[in-house]
Amino acid sequence: MPKKVTQPSAVFNVGDMELVSSECIILRNQDYLERDRLVTFLTRDAGKLRGIVKGSRKLTSRGVGSFEPFSRGLIHYVDKAGAGLVAIRKCDPQPPYLYLERDYHKFLYAGYVTELIDLCPIQRDESEPFFELLGGTLDALCEAGAPRRLPLLRLRFELRYLQLLGYQPDWTRCCMCLRPLLRWENNLAEPVLRGSHRFDPRRGGLCCPDCARANRQLTPLAPESLAFLENWRNAPAGTVVRPTRQALEELEAAITQHLAYHLERQPRSLSLLPSLQALNGNDGA
Ligand SMILES: [Zn+2]
Repeated sequence: MPKKVTQPSAVFNVGDMELVSSECIILRNQDYLERDRLVTFLTRDAGKLRGIVKGSRKLTSRGVGSFEPFSRGLIHYVDKAGAGLVAIRKCDPQPPYLYLERDYHKFLYAGYVTELIDLCPIQRDESEPFFELLGGTLDALCEAGAPRRLPLLRLRFELRYLQLLGYQPDWTRCCMCLRPLLRWENNLAEPVLRGSHRFDPRRGGLCCPDCARANRQLTPLAPESLAFLENWRNAPAGTVVRPTRQALEELEAAITQHLAYHLERQPRSLSLLPSLQALNGNDGA
């Protein structure tokens, strides 16, 4: 894969307008009026923006592919103060070029992480970590071998995304009685309590089996699922910590509820993601 290009936005003042060139990842595009296109994009250092590409729906328009979701480029736009939408002049494609559409499952996961980025407001001064997260996840999806690795890339993305939004739960402590849920032996986390823990999106954390008794409608998590999460997150580079199907299903369910609670909606692309069973069935291992 070619080396990534990293560069800060360049700004030129033309009268009362700013002509800006920013490194970007395209999140979404849609038709706008008769001939134009409305493009949402995340810049490395200028926040998440929306803009109009004039005349880009004409078949003969050059560079339309540069505005497809997941593509990266150096986007040139005019930012008129207070206008809301920027006027996009063009987007020069930049490496790495991802060919996610060749693998349907990877394409669906890319759609999901990109939609999550699209669903949260990202201001100018917080752009870079979101840009790195999305870019790094798209690269990792491209390079992922076996389909069963895709849910772990999703999990890694979601945990970092929650951290950047300030909603990362404490996975090691009961959010009600505050007792520790894990202990460490030889650098490996083990559950302290047997029985079903539960995830409470409203409290933004886990309830121990005792506190969970009054909240049986909440998403259950086995103690082994919590131990897996902790060991997987803290595993030294090169160490493989494999989840059980149950651990992945429980963590996916808890994080999905947590995200929906904070985003106040369910990402539409979530329902398109393949089941864990479908991914393992394709693994051939
Ligand atoms: Zn408790």
